[in-house]
Amino acid sequence: MSKERLYLYDTTLRDGAQTPGVDFTLADKLLIAGLLDEFGLAYVEGGYPGANPQDTEFFQRRRTRKASFTAFGMVKRAGVSVSNDPGLNALLSADADAICFVGKASDYHVKVALGVSNEENLDSIRDSVTAAKNAGREVLLDCEHFFDGWKSNPDYALAVAKSAYEAGCRWVVLCDTNGGTLPDEVADIVATVAKSIPGDHIGIHAHNDTDQAVAVSLAAIRAGARQIQGTLNGIGERCGNANLVAIIPTLLLKPAYADRFDTGIGADQLGGLTILSRRFDELLNRVPDRQAAYVGASAFATKAGIHASALAKDSRTYEHVPPEAIGNRRRVFVSDQAGKSNLTSELDRMAIAYDRADQRVDSLLAELKRREAKGYAYESADASFELLARRWLGKVPTYFTVDSFHAAVERRHNAKGQLVSVSEAVVKTVVAGKTFHNVAEGNGPVNALDRALRKDLGVYQEIIEDLELVDYKVRILNGGSEAVTRVLIESADAGGDRWLTIGVSENIVDASFEALLDAIIFKLVKAEAIPASEAASPQPASVRSGGNLGVKGLVT
Ligand SMILES: [Zn+2]
Repeated sequence: MSKERLYLYDTTLRDGAQTPGVDFTLADKLLIAGLLDEFGLAYVEGGYPGANPQDTEFFQRRRTRKASFTAFGMVKRAGVSVSNDPGLNALLSADADAICFVGKASDYHVKVALGVSNEENLDSIRDSVTAAKNAGREVLLDCEHFFDGWKSNPDYALAVAKSAYEAGCRWVVLCDTNGGTLPDEVADIVATVAKSIPGDHIGIHAHNDTDQAVAVSLAAIRAGARQIQGTLNGIGERCGNANLVAIIPTLLLKPAYADRFDTGIGADQLGGLTILSRRFDELLNRVPDRQAAYVGASAFATKAGIHASALAKDSRTYEHVPPEAIGNRRRVFVSDQAGKSNLTSELDRMAIAYDRADQRVDSLLAELKRREAKGYAYESADASFELLARRWLGKVPTYFTVDSFHAAVERRHNAKGQLVSVSEAVVKTVVAGKTFHNVAEGNGPVNALDRALRKDLGVYQEIIEDLELVDYKVRILNGGSEAVTRVLIESADAGGDRWLTIGVSENIVDASFEALLDAIIFKLVKAEAIPASEAASPQPASVRSGGNLGVKGLVT
């Protein structure tokens, strides 16, 4: 039996951008759009072209390959023709596959917020939909305040939805803008609307103000809606939007939905959901919610005891779905087997050759666990993980060693009597027997160290020339006097590759330096740089032993 298609619509870059404290840069938006596209979302809504220079630039060309790249904006103002409405024209000139309009579906809001007649509002909607359709776009209408509007005037709310559908809207999206409607109410209303508009043209846009946005979305699907709008990790204003990271696995893993619907997302992509969710948190510099459904670090964690021993016999005893299905893992302290299979699948993914019987694979697993206990978070730092694994299995050459570094911050009055902070760093590296003493200034000690480290790396200089530090995040773990600092650095190069490295230490400068070093070495490994002759520069055994970076006292 063929399955019905459900369409997943992501609005992280538009509604999600309303979250307090969230402010996406253009680079962030490009990265997120790419991740969503890769993951298999049907629609990626990118923002409001014409409303601000950044969104206009974002819509200068299509930013997705498979997903429908969707622009968002208001329907035209009443009393102005389509061609004289600058907002509508900015939308039409965006390089987008689809346009999602927002129009008011509540007569109260039409009167109070727009100050126009009900009929004028319907005309604006019809004309805008027609104009976008004539311009060759797929058209959607977000019916703002639909459910609240329905409760006070169902005829008008329905008239709005029907006018849009009859004017040629592919999707009429019913929005619970204030987020207070309960699942049963939504189910009843959607079922009624579906008598006038086919369900495969109805979408649901829920907010989480009663912590039920996911339940509301699923209720709407059961009542006939076939498009679900939501955001990554449920970000959004107030209490957030419907969380796609919870909805997607429910649709794919729960038979009530999985047997009936096809979301366009396969099992392979679902296996990357945990990483997607964590990467997004890191991008926002948020601590991932350990108790998040499906993807949280605690979602499949069990303390030792009766649960753990039952789990060891059959994991289904205490797990509603297999954690591997969403790329999460079981955390039980009775067996390392689950951890080892996770590790070997990561090694396979990174195309690192190993022998299953090699003791070093077990010791690498133990090392990872030890490091995670110290504060490393390798799920957010792929490049550092790959380097650690390659080093451990003996596959990273010693390109160079860092003999020492020194960083100083000075606060003083300059010649003009202004109080200034000046940072200077000295890094002593040894490349193929040659010592480099690099000195650089920066706007802080980490910036100065970064500059000094990369100032002259001898034979490798050409390879690292296009390396760029694009993001730097610091998080203090455990708090209090025993706090440790975790630094995450994102690097990019001219080829468009981006990679994340990590450092952990009680000292923020040490943690930063560790992540900076990994970033450079990863670039050299990626470029398959040929190590400068080690014969020319015999290094002390203490520096070269183990799996470390060759930096004394920095990495153990
Ligand atoms: Zn919304």
